Amino acid sequence: HVSADPINDVEQEVKEWASQKKTEIDELRRQEKFRRDFLSNISHEFKTPLFAIQGYIEALQDDDFEDKEMAAQFLEKASKNVDRLSYLIKDLDEISKLESGEIPINYSKFKINDLIKEVMESMEMKAKKHNIKLTFKQKYDEGIYVNADREKIRQVLVNLIDNSFKYGKDGGETGISLFTLHEQVLIEVTDDGIGIEEKYLPRLFERFFRTDTSRSRQIGGSGLGLAIVKHIIEAHQQTINVRSTDGLGSTFGFTLQKGKQILPFPNIPVLKS
Ligand code: ADP
Repeated sequence: HVSADPINDVEQEVKEWASQKKTEIDELRRQEKFRRDFLSNISHEFKTPLFAIQGYIEALQDDDFEDKEMAAQFLEKASKNVDRLSYLIKDLDEISKLESGEIPINYSKFKINDLIKEVMESMEMKAKKHNIKLTFKQKYDEGIYVNADREKIRQVLVNLIDNSFKYGKDGGETGISLFTLHEQVLIEVTDDGIGIEEKYLPRLFERFFRTDTSRSRQIGGSGLGLAIVKHIIEAHQQTINVRSTDGLGSTFGFTLQKGKQILPFPNIPVLKS
């Protein structure tokens, strides 16, 4: 093939090369900004509880401080902030391990109904503490097999149910529903709590993102729970979404791949010659 306009061809090639390089540089810049923001978020999130603890300790160290009741309250508050720091460290550790691919997805086939019931049992006490009724709308008595990482999906369920308690209402209900689609199952966790304003929905799964409501209500949390959930579901090549009506409640739903039950080989007797 002989080109009619070789100079134009070379020009075109150089243009393409330059545009590709520009895309690469933009991507590097984006990653760099992401890293910077991430670090500044972390230090900000650590500062708040640390300053609070420091404040309570300083107050208690004051020679004039005599009020025993108040001292007990300050210690309680300091202890809550210590808890907050340890949650943060645990969640940060988890998300960085997930993102570096250090913990791979261990697929196995199991009945999702059994896992949901297990998680519900383990969270029954917490539900009582929040005065929330935890229910499972089960239609498939025989159980439905999924192909997924059982422990990681347990974590997803725990995080979503835990949020439904934190942002739920006193005397409310958290319902878990299971639906079968063609190749997938859909699991939904629904609460009738404070709900989420529409403008926040697109940012909900970002690391450290918390709505103003949850911050002002002083609800404990790292802001990493949903980021961990999203990461786990996407690592399974599945999807997660949320719908919510502010003031009325929210539904978080995620899909999993259906797993066919593998029947064991029948025992064929060995023929002796
Ligand atoms: P955390 O709960 O530790 O703040 P998450 O990542 O789990 O962090 O959630 C991020 C934010 O999304 C929460 O701070 C809260 O504002 C909002 N959110 C999550 N789940 C719910 C829910 N079920 N109802 C209302 N708001 C929620």
